[in-house]
Amino acid sequence: MTECELLATCGFYKKYQDTLSLACRGFIKTYCRGGQMDECVRKQYRMEHGQPPADDMMPSGQTVPEQYRGQSVVGGDTKTS
Ligand code: SF4
Repeated sequence: MTECELLATCGFYKKYQDTLSLACRGFIKTYCRGGQMDECVRKQYRMEHGQPPADDMMPSGQTVPEQYRGQSVVGGDTKTS
């Protein structure tokens, strides 16, 4: 099975696994459950610092755009496109 070994403890995955953000879902598909898991910046960060980065850091090392944080709770003014 292709799946990151940190899946169960990864703050990003836990927070965004049900997100509506296509960007986050794309990352999960290609990194967390795909072939690029060993290129994940979160994973590298954890190895370097001995602790995980903020939950909002994506596998690419960028931060999740503000409008997508906590989206699973509030539908609010989020645009669907
Ligand atoms: S974000 Fe990175 S460390 Fe977390 S589950 Fe996905 S591939 Fe693993």
